Parts: sequence; structure tokens; C-alpha cells
Amino acid sequence: MSSAAVASPSGSVQPSAVARTVVHKFGGTSVADAERYRHVAQLLLARDEDIQVTVVSAMKGVTDALIGLAQAAAAPQGADVPQWEDAWHDLRARHRSAAVALLAEHAGEAVEWIDQRFDELAQVLGAVAVLGSLPEEVLQRVQGLGEVYSAQLLGLHLGALGEDCAVLDARDVLVVTHGDLGVDVDWARSAERLAQWRQANPQKRVVATGFVARDANGRITTLGRNGSDFSGAIFAALFEADELHIWTDVDGVLSADPRVVPEAVQLESLSYDEACELAYFGAKVVHPQTMYPAIERGLPIVIRNTFQPGHPGTRISAGRDPSRPVKGLTLSPNLAMVNLEGTGLIGVPGTAERVFAALRNARVSVVMISQGSSEHSICCVVRQDDAERAQAALLNAFAHELAVGQVQRVQHVPGISVLAAVGDGMAGQPGIAARLFGALGRAQVNIRAIAQGSSERNISVAIDSDQATRALRAAHAGFWLSPQTFAVGVIGPGNVGGALLDQLMSARGKLLERARLDLRLRAIASRSRQLLDPRGIEGDWHQAYAAAREPLDLDRFTAHLLDSHLPHMVIVDCSGSPQVADRYAQWLAAGIHVVTPNKQAGSGPLQRWREIRAAAQGSGARFRYEATVGAGLPVISTLRDLLDTGDKVTSIEGIFSGTLAWLFNRFDGSVPFSELVAEARSLGYTEPDPRDDLSGTDVGRKLVILAREAGCELSIEDVQVESLVPAALRESSVDDFMARLREVDDGFAERLGQAKANGNVLRYVARLDAQGKASVGLVEVPRDHAFANLRLTDNIVQFTTRRYCENPLVVQGPGAGPEVTAAGVFADLLRVAAGRGARL
Ligand code: ADP
Ligand code: ASP
Ligand code: MG
Repeated sequence: MSSAAVASPSGSVQPSAVARTVVHKFGGTSVADAERYRHVAQLLLARDEDIQVTVVSAMKGVTDALIGLAQAAAAPQGADVPQWEDAWHDLRARHRSAAVALLAEHAGEAVEWIDQRFDELAQVLGAVAVLGSLPEEVLQRVQGLGEVYSAQLLGLHLGALGEDCAVLDARDVLVVTHGDLGVDVDWARSAERLAQWRQANPQKRVVATGFVARDANGRITTLGRNGSDFSGAIFAALFEADELHIWTDVDGVLSADPRVVPEAVQLESLSYDEACELAYFGAKVVHPQTMYPAIERGLPIVIRNTFQPGHPGTRISAGRDPSRPVKGLTLSPNLAMVNLEGTGLIGVPGTAERVFAALRNARVSVVMISQGSSEHSICCVVRQDDAERAQAALLNAFAHELAVGQVQRVQHVPGISVLAAVGDGMAGQPGIAARLFGALGRAQVNIRAIAQGSSERNISVAIDSDQATRALRAAHAGFWLSPQTFAVGVIGPGNVGGALLDQLMSARGKLLERARLDLRLRAIASRSRQLLDPRGIEGDWHQAYAAAREPLDLDRFTAHLLDSHLPHMVIVDCSGSPQVADRYAQWLAAGIHVVTPNKQAGSGPLQRWREIRAAAQGSGARFRYEATVGAGLPVISTLRDLLDTGDKVTSIEGIFSGTLAWLFNRFDGSVPFSELVAEARSLGYTEPDPRDDLSGTDVGRKLVILAREAGCELSIEDVQVESLVPAALRESSVDDFMARLREVDDGFAERLGQAKANGNVLRYVARLDAQGKASVGLVEVPRDHAFANLRLTDNIVQFTTRRYCENPLVVQGPGAGPEVTAAGVFADLLRVAAGRGARL
């Protein structure tokens, strides 16, 4: 490295007054068309560097197009027109028009040059067509031409702007060989050729081709797909540059591929080791070999955004920043697993060596290996394209062991991806693997094999490719690289459901900001229709839902949530429907959490209840229903806490109906009972048919839910329910019932009179005793009893337990109304999120 830079105490390289050489590399994304070349030229001219070397890729998509041309030429030809000709014309037209747009009156020379190059290309393609096959050498020659065209265009443009600039064709100087571990640069020969070239071309600005080179035999070759980054590093070394800037279309290296994890965050700095691991395991933003020339020379690499030149980008250098244990996550797709299994492998030395030798001889490169300490099996992850060859090689190498039964099988599992977590700070830090596996486990991702390098800079897991997106997002959220994300589906946007949606939408921003919890509303369904939104409903949900036309289909609703590939999924059922409750077990088994104020599951058939509990237990998904009893009051969670801490419940008693509470709080004899019912109805305190409240069934159901929670598997039939609706009024219409309600007044007045005479009041109370006897009905309680002193529609629940035996534990407060019920549901949802790692 030249002495043109001074290292600051923090290790970063600062510009200095001494001669500076900077190499810039622009990827295909930065040079897609004439406009972009112009932008790149302005960016370069604005920089004050003594020597400025610019390495360019082909225009976006051109390398793919050239490979396509070569393959089309080699394919069996149709009747008269060679199949590659149209595409060849298109590609020439694209370059011609870029030249014209870029160079205007100076374009003549450029277009002529382009035409000559394309004529040469046509000759090569013609020869390939005659041959009917595509020799590797020809493919290498053709696929690198885009860089040659691109460098020429930029060079001519800078020249037209009055800059003295030399165009360097890397095929004239770079000499490389292809080895097992990738491309090796012949530094001595390359340096010598560059020195010669420099003698004839001493300009301050140089534009060079990326990607292309020549091999030791003088044949044209390339550095592998995405290889222009590597070219940049090679030229940085050859020019003894002070820095290498790799310009692309993102703000630098991000914590994960932004196309898979939209919330990926930009990384300010990375060590060379971290960058190598990320690149090797699939972070496409930089070619894996780019770092090697830089490491030896301590050359800093800055990855930055052509479209945001002011952004500092990501600095890759020798410095380490262990502040975050995991810097980034990558995904390598299109892999397969090959497993060698056999009891005869246990304790036999040299088995692994034989596996690798066999794979090496078959020219299969191994992406990841894992062997359990029992040595019963060895698992290799290889590229999908190599998998059959790998399997055949192992079958062959272990033919004897297979024949005598020492090896049971050599299995090939396609459709594998490897997810890798990378960071220097992982070394020596306990708990990192647990965090990764925890995040994957909670997202229902099945891990097939695990490997950790002894450098502890990388943990890799092999997973099924169809779970890869979800896995990456979950792991990313698990390491706090992005918020915990939940796909939320709401069923029943009525009173409670609607209030919940309002609360959810207004709390979302704050939850995201403060707790980094991202609740994405992806679906709303009612009895008749549903809205499935692929991006997540934003803004006014009423409006979005009003436009929904799709008929309700719970299968599609479910598939839509599962398809989100978000780490977590939750369905909030505010419907009250038994058919929806029938789905819970299936949802829970699929890893979808269920949160509900619907009493159907908790108090319905025991068989369904057991299936739901078993499904939740099996998958680890949560089933929460706090709002089924006492609306938003913490009734069930209080009971759970008592039980979980080892307490024993001896009885549960309370007033579970806001409507009945209100009626008997008011019923003092001054107004007939029937008038109170009519008033409650007009205030909206009762169900549309007040008999639903007065029958006591709803209270009975709540008691069943609490009893089951306490471990006593009751059904509604086991509860003795006193209905306040006389038999004669049970069958009539609502209007008829209301009209005849006066018939009950005498009876109620009489019971009240008796109670008063005893110094008591009337209350509609639910009771479960230690023997499991359950009843709900109208009872007398003393005036100073807790149940006698409730306000309005308050609910109250008393738990008498081993610990709270003299004085019961009481939960009391407003126990009805859409707002508070929805808040109870929301609180459940947040508890599920907290259980999945959200920091609330
Ligand atoms: P160029 O043409 O500039 O070389 P590439 O397409 O080769 O651009 O690489 C840049 C792209 O890499 C980005 O647009 C981004 O989609 C993708 N990418 C994948 N993983 C990452 C990552 N971890 N950080 C940043 N970008 C990534
Ligand atoms: N143009 C080449 C490719 O598409 C090299 C590069 O862009 O880095 O792979
Ligand atoms: Mg690239």
C-alpha cells in the first residue's frame, strides 16, 4: 500500500494531502443505461483523487443475455433462422442506443466500434451453431464481452466530457488460474503487464473492465459470476490503491438480503472475516473472493450506493466491532443433503476422510458438514446440481460396507437451504446458538443439520427450502436485527372485533417503535366475506374491508397467513361461532397462535377442547382466551398464575354477567323487575334477546371455562343453571317476551322481600366448589358481602385457594363492553408476542 493514507486512532483511513489512489467499482445495477453512465461519470468527476481507476461491470442483464445467446447458438437449430439472431440484434441495439444517447455528436466512432464487436460476436456464435455445442472456452470468451463494451462506453463518455482517460482491457493484463478454491491471481505476471501498459497509458483516470482476465495459457476467461467485485480488489492491489469503493444499488452490506427481509438494516462496518463469511454464504452484495487481495494489504473496502453518494456505506477493514454478536444472516439456496448412515461407522477412524476423498474425486464441493458425536451418520450439504453425483460417489466408495451392512444407507435429500448467522462477536459468547434455534423453533422451522466453524464466527443450519424465507425472517427478528413480525388475521369485525381492529391499528406505530414488535394485519373475515391483503392492511381498515368481495373461505384464509412467510402468525377469533372454534386445533397444530373472546372452545364439547389443548401442546403455539371471562379483567391469567406457582384452588365464586350484575344492583323494590330489564335493554346492556342473559347459560359457560382452567373438566350439562326466564316465556318471540315480562314481577318482588327480611340482597352468582360441584343462580348474600357492593356492570371473581384461604383473592371491575373486551383480547395478543421474544 502506498503511504497516501493515514490511519486514525480508530483504525479508519482518512484522506490526506499525499497522493491518493482510489479504485471504484460500479456494478451492473449502477450502469443500466445511458442516464446511469452519465450519473457515474459525474460522481467520478466530482471526486478529487490523484489516480482514479474505475472498474465497470456489464450493463445490467447483459451477462445473462450473452450467456443466453451462446447457449441458444449451441442448441439444435430450427429450419432457417438461427435462434440467437433476434437476441443478438436486441443486444446490439441496446448498446448502440446507449452510445447514441450518451455521446450524441461523438457517437459515430462508438457505434462503429460496437458494430465491429458485434460482428465478431456473430462470427463466434455462427461457429458455435455449426459445432452444435458450447465449449467452455467459448462460453468464457462470450460471457465477458459485456464488460468490454461497458468500459468502452464509459471511457468514451469521459473523453467526450474532456477528460483524458485510458481504457484498460483487463484481458491484456490480468493473468489468473482456476484452482480448487476459486481463482488464483498470477500477481507477478499481472503486475509486469500492468507496468508495461501504464508506460503507454499514464493517465490520471483509467476505466477498466471487470470480470474478465486471461488464463496461464493466454485463453480468455472470467472470474466467476459477480466477479467484477473481485476485479476491483485485484486492480486495487495492482495499483497499490488506498481504498476500494464498490458502488451498487443498496446503502452497503445489510444484515440480510433486503429482497427477503425488507426490514434488514445497514451495517456501518464489518471485519474482513465477517465480510468473507457473509459473501461465501450467499450475500450477493459482494463476491466472496474480493476480500483476499485487500486483507494482505490492509486495504479498506467501502460498499456504497450509487444512488445515494452521500451515504457513508459499509466499511470493511481489519477492525473488529464486537458490539453486536451477530452482524448478518445469509441464505444459500439450491442445495441438497447427502447422508451416510451406518452403525458400522461408530468409532471407525478415517470414515470422514473417505467421504471427503470420494466427494473430491467426484469434483463435488461440500458447503457444510455435520457429524453427530455418536458418529452414526455423516451429513454433507452440497449443491443441488452435484447431489446425484455425490450420492453415486459415496455409494461407490462405501460399496463394501453397504454390502456387509456396516453402512445402512446413503440418502439424498433435495430442496435444502443453508441459513448462516455471521459475526466476530459470536466467539466465546454463550447463548447465541440458543437464540438462533429458539427463533427458528418458535417459527416452526425444522432444523435438519447444524454446523459451527471452530472460529465461532458462523453458525450454519440446513433447513428445507420451502421454510427458508420464514426462517430467515424469524432469525433476523430473533437477533434484534429487525422487529418481531406477526401476521395477524382477525375473524368477526363486529362490536368487539371492530374495537380490537381500531386499537390494533392505532397502537401499531408505537409498538413498532418502542417494542420493535411489528403486527401486520393481513386478513379480516366475517361470516360472509374476507379481505386477504398480501402486504398488510395499512390506514383505515374499515375502508379496506368495505371493498372486500371475496366470499369467506377459511381454508384460503389460513393458507394466506401461512404463505406470509412471516416468523409468527396469529388468528384472533372475535366471531362467537362454533364452526370457527372447530378450526382451532388445526391452526394451532400448524403453528398459528389463536387468541379469542369466543366462549365456544372453552365451554363447548370436551373432545374438541382436548384436541385444541393437545394441538397447542404439540406445536408450542399459544391458545389464549382471557377475554372469555370478565372481558378485559385479568381473570384467567390470575388463575393461571395461582396454579403455575403451585397453589391449589378450593373454590371459585363470582358474578360473571355485567347485565345481571346491573339488574340486581338496581333491583331494590322501587321499580318492578320487568321495567329494569326494559331499561337495560334500551341502554344496550343486554343481548338483543334479554333471555340470553337471563337464562344464565352464558354465566354457566364462563364457569365451565374457569373450571377447565383449574383442571376440572366440566361441561355445561354438569352445571346446575337456574334460569330467570319462566318456562312459559321461553319459546315466544322477543317482542312477545318483552310484552309479557310483567308476569315475572311478583315472583321477583317476593324473593326480594324475603331477602330483605333476612338482611340480605339478591345476586346472580356462579359457584364451583372443591368437589367440582358447579352451579349458577339467584342467591341471597349479606349486605356487607363483596358481591353486594358492586358498581354498575362490574364483574367480580373470588378465588379461594390453599394460600388465599381466609381471605379470597378478588378480581373486580368493569366486565362488559366492546372496548374493554377488545383490550383484553389485545393484551392476550401482546402476551403471545412477549412469549415469542418481543420486549414489551
Ligand atoms: P451489482 O450489480 O452492483 O454488483 P448485485 O445485484 O450483484 O449488484 O448485488 C447487489 C444486490 O445484492 C442488492 O441489490 C441486494 O438485493 C442484494 N443483496 C443480497 N444480500 C445482501 C446483503 N446482505 N446486503 C446488501 N445487499 C444484498
Ligand atoms: N457482469 C458479471 C455478472 O453479471 C460480473 C459482475 O457483474 O460482477 O456476473
Ligand atoms: Mg455484484
